[in-house]
Amino acid sequence: MDLGLEGLRVLITAGASGIGLHTARAFAAEGARVHICDIDEAAISAFRADNPDIGASLCDVADRDQVQALFDTALESLGGLDCLINNAGISGATAPVEQMDPADWDRCIAVTLTSQFNCTRLAVEPLKASANPSIINLSSAAGKFGFQFRSAYSAAKWGIVGFTKTIARELGPFGIRCNTILPGLVEGDRLTRVIAAKADALGKTYSEAETDFLAHASIKEMIDPRQLADMMLFLASPRGRTISGQAISIDADLQTLA
Ligand code: NAD
Repeated sequence: MDLGLEGLRVLITAGASGIGLHTARAFAAEGARVHICDIDEAAISAFRADNPDIGASLCDVADRDQVQALFDTALESLGGLDCLINNAGISGATAPVEQMDPADWDRCIAVTLTSQFNCTRLAVEPLKASANPSIINLSSAAGKFGFQFRSAYSAAKWGIVGFTKTIARELGPFGIRCNTILPGLVEGDRLTRVIAAKADALGKTYSEAETDFLAHASIKEMIDPRQLADMMLFLASPRGRTISGQAISIDADLQTLA
């Protein structure tokens, strides 16, 4: 299927590894022009070496001055913007709410939720000038279920759903569609860390905690990050032009989080 993504100008936050990296490569493979940012200097260097055709900036998306500098660089290098992918998000602390360090709460909300506001507010004007504008926000299955010991992360991910549905209504009249993706258990280093932390918090083995996670999915399989990228390609393509305001789960039909 030709998705018509040749030349699409895409900015992806936290793109030097994980889901963002798979997504950046998937858009570039379709002929899109891509710029990523990341907070990890070593990861940015490795990314630049491996992906010389994709722009990359060092940026903490929780810092508004750094986000302004990112947009200055990315908009100039891309020559405008057609698609913003707010992908950055951190797991935050795994702890009962009364034991959670307030600094951990603040940082998780800042990186996972407020970063999407930081980027979106600067994306709106350039997107209004695009013929095919869209915003895709990464939420999580933690944005539709309670997730014990992960109150900051879950609150941020529920917040993203509300943020997305609201900006979809505000920006729809300008033709800008806004959607959020709620991934379930995605293969990769991050999930390994999350399962290990949950095992520790509950006094279980890693394998017991992993079985607990999958027990609540109708399809007993982790999500391949390329499936998330495929959905984002479609949403950003002209074929997705009437899909907006949607919270789309890609989670093997999870019924709850362990
Ligand atoms: P990850 O933990 O692998 O991190 C990806 C990148 O984010 C890293 O390169 C890291 O340096 C960068 N990063 C961290 N803080 C940043 C900041 N302040 N500014 C800029 N970059 C920063 O993440 P991932 O697993 O690829 O997840 C991507 C998104 O998908 C997140 O929003 C996450 O919450 C969401 N998600 C992931 C899963 C999963 O199982 N992996 C499940 C549901 C939702």
